[in-house]
Amino acid sequence: MPELSKRTETFTDSVIRRMTRISLQYGAVNLSQGFPDFEPPREILERLAQVSGEDFHQYSITWGAQNFREALAEKQSRRMGRTIDPNREIVVTCGSTEAMMAAMMTVANPGDRVIVFSPFYENYGADAVLSGAEPVYVPLVPPEFSFDPDRLEDAFRQRPKALILCNPSNPCGKVFTREELMLIADLAEKYDTFVITDEVYEHIVYEPNEHIYFASLPGMWERTISCSSLSKTYSITGWRLGYIIAPADIVDTAKKVHDFLTVGAAAPLQEAAVTGLRFGDEYYRDLRRRYTEKRNLFLKGLDDIGIAHTVPQGAYYVLLDISEFGYDSDLEFCEALARDVGVGAVPGSSFFREPVNHLIRLHFAKKEDTLCEALNRLENIRKML
Ligand code: GLN
Repeated sequence: MPELSKRTETFTDSVIRRMTRISLQYGAVNLSQGFPDFEPPREILERLAQVSGEDFHQYSITWGAQNFREALAEKQSRRMGRTIDPNREIVVTCGSTEAMMAAMMTVANPGDRVIVFSPFYENYGADAVLSGAEPVYVPLVPPEFSFDPDRLEDAFRQRPKALILCNPSNPCGKVFTREELMLIADLAEKYDTFVITDEVYEHIVYEPNEHIYFASLPGMWERTISCSSLSKTYSITGWRLGYIIAPADIVDTAKKVHDFLTVGAAAPLQEAAVTGLRFGDEYYRDLRRRYTEKRNLFLKGLDDIGIAHTVPQGAYYVLLDISEFGYDSDLEFCEALARDVGVGAVPGSSFFREPVNHLIRLHFAKKEDTLCEALNRLENIRKML
């Protein structure tokens, strides 16, 4: 038989998605792959029911239905502080997973370097491999998960094509400060580099932290490819609705990449999601309040059990320190945790470039009951492991 592609030789399956399968296998409370177990907003679901009887069953315009792009442009113009052109500056994609891949393919040639902060969301590694780019990792150092500006400049000296910025950050929950973003901006300018953002947690930020869109920094619009999605904001991860916002010349190319990758996002779902995009500010305040409550409940539960953990400034992940359990492999620990304690987690090693083996990631995008059940089970952790 002929060989399979060299390109795919270096990556494994997604550990995050694998842990969901393992959780199902053991009937564990699945706090691994980050998705909610509560319902999306009722208004969106009601609109979805209506849409099935309307004329939205064929392809939409490949770079996104007009109605969706207009609603998105209006919402993001308010948030990002600039008028976004729905016709020239947006591509609607199948989740931000496709947005990031399309962005990478839009800018990178085989052999180009891209800067990735470590820890990082595991897809970026595969995005780099599939687009032929070579990641240059810069550590975010705990407990603040801050970066060393000299180390970052060293990475820029390697003349990367782009820097990938996940803000708020998965898995460490960091929300980059204006000073940090300005530092990155100055280097991006100095070394003439694109910045590809992943801002899917833009609305899940805990006070007093504040999300600043990289594209909104002085002079950064021109070189920023902003990727995000509706998954986390409206609790519709299965709908696979994401997007790229960028200057028209970049979007022109991204539209073509996207068209040949997937043709387009699901037309009926785009139409139904317009209802969410048109929500007022109250919706986002309420979302933040509800996630703040979940975070506080979950962190307090972990404190009561006495497990050391990060305190996220944004997104909905916590890293737990499992050093005391003496496992050599965090993957084995997570399997035992799912099997014997009944809680699904993601091994930290799947996020770090560095040889980190003492952390696991849990998420708290779950109903209060689910979080309490997980905490009840975790109370036995020292007996079981
Ligand atoms: N972003 C989510 C996580 O990190 C899941 C994303 C996915 O699996 N597509 O768990």
